[in-house]
Amino acid sequence: MSLQLLDKLAEGGGLSHAEYVELLQARSPALAEELFARARHVRDRIYGPQVFLRGLVELSSYCRNDCYYCGLRRSNHNTERYRLTPEQILASCEVGYRLGFRTFVLQGGEDEYFTDERVVALVRSVKASCPGSAVTLSLGEKSYESYRRLREAGAERYLLRHETADPEHYRKLHPESLTLEKRLRCLHDLRSLGYQTGAGFIVGSPGQTLDCLAKDLAFLADFKPEMIGIGPFMPHHDTPFAQAPAGDLDLTLFLLGVIRLLLPTVLLPATTALGSIHPRGRELGVLAGANVIMPNLSPPDVRSKYSIYDNKLSSGAEAAEGLEDLRRRLAEVNCRIAPGRGDHPNFVQQDETQ
Ligand code: SAH
Repeated sequence: MSLQLLDKLAEGGGLSHAEYVELLQARSPALAEELFARARHVRDRIYGPQVFLRGLVELSSYCRNDCYYCGLRRSNHNTERYRLTPEQILASCEVGYRLGFRTFVLQGGEDEYFTDERVVALVRSVKASCPGSAVTLSLGEKSYESYRRLREAGAERYLLRHETADPEHYRKLHPESLTLEKRLRCLHDLRSLGYQTGAGFIVGSPGQTLDCLAKDLAFLADFKPEMIGIGPFMPHHDTPFAQAPAGDLDLTLFLLGVIRLLLPTVLLPATTALGSIHPRGRELGVLAGANVIMPNLSPPDVRSKYSIYDNKLSSGAEAAEGLEDLRRRLAEVNCRIAPGRGDHPNFVQQDETQ
């Protein structure tokens, strides 16, 4: 019965809400193995047994928002905040460029210091110093006009997880000023501006049910993001969810496999949260169909301050300097690092220097 659901997933077009719930309820080690084998097959057919690297620069831990799950929320007064200078950001990208990175992800809290003018200048300088590279932004919710300016400055991709596709669940995770409607409007704006757009959600966030996850999958099947970031919920001790249990590793892996079958060409990271919850989390993610890894390129002295949850990895194979370790770990799961900037196949590369 559940094998039929895998067949149906692979045919394209998605499942009904009831079928997603049924598939998640039917999850067992045997079904997961079958799903992962199929997911790897699909990934390898499209991309080969390879992962693309993205160098992550966490440019600011200041945030005007107050998401209940995140350690960077503005009500957390126990955290030491930092903000990188443009020179530090550029230097981090240049270090990555020398290591072979061709995509840089500039991520941060919603820090009002980083005005459009400042981010435009940053994007331009990264593009100029690192020829042939793609710039991905992940700086939260902005107006259409702001997204337009950043796109015009050269940013090609934007990551903005929808967090949960269930409006009531969204309200349990965020204060009233933040709504799912607004988040989705941002995603549609990004798409219409020609960004390769990333959505995604936290697995096991407080109050999440299989019903919520089925809605997440239906939303993804419909929106078809070029990139999807999912990772287990990890509690942070200075948030209202300090006592909530962490998300489930096996459920996260299962969802990665489902997403690979649902959207064969999606760029799907084995996220830092996955690497943080289990020592081989990243490799298990790759075995479940992931094809992106985002090592940390931030200056080492600020990494521990970008504390969105407790026990977040930022060293070893998670760090840009740990590429050899990462290579070895990937080889153990018959995978290698892909060269180049790793655009989604629907996007024709405009930059001819690559
Ligand atoms: N301010 C940006 C970047 C947020 S950090 C934005 O709003 O998009 C990137 C992602 O980390 C978030 O989208 C969220 O899904 C995830 N995250 C935050 N807190 C988390 C936690 N406690 N456990 C797991 N993931 C978390």
